[in-house]
Amino acid sequence: MAGEPQDDCLFCKIVAGQIPATIIRETETTVAFRDINPQAPTHVLVIPKVHYANAADLAAAEPEIAADLLRESRAVADGDGLESYRIVFNTGTGAGQTVFHAHAHILGGRGLQWPPG
Ligand code: AMP
Ligand code: ZN
Repeated sequence: MAGEPQDDCLFCKIVAGQIPATIIRETETTVAFRDINPQAPTHVLVIPKVHYANAADLAAAEPEIAADLLRESRAVADGDGLESYRIVFNTGTGAGQTVFHAHAHILGGRGLQWPPG
């Protein structure tokens, strides 16, 4: 069923507490944890507890939870004292997506180039 946990999904396992992560925030619908391979002083992933392959699929099926990701992204930035930050949703392998459970990257704490690579 749409949104149900997937046995082979790394982030579903983090949501279920089966794989450790440095969790910094949790709500009824989301979990935020530090990226294991940080690309900036702040590099946090905000994920929905429900499983969708990418952010657009999440927004199509459960728009309120997609909005929760954005609200939580600001809470993460506030928590790390960031005035400026970037939210990235890699979508598809060609854009660097490696985990097919929707997630927002929150990046900050250093100068961020535009356009991104
Ligand atoms: P993406 O490449 O956009 O799919 O992002 C996946 C992100 O998950 C990468 O930045 C990885 O470094 C990160 N990642 C993979 N495994 C873990 C883990 N066990 N805990 C935290 N972050 C992870
Ligand atoms: Zn998942």
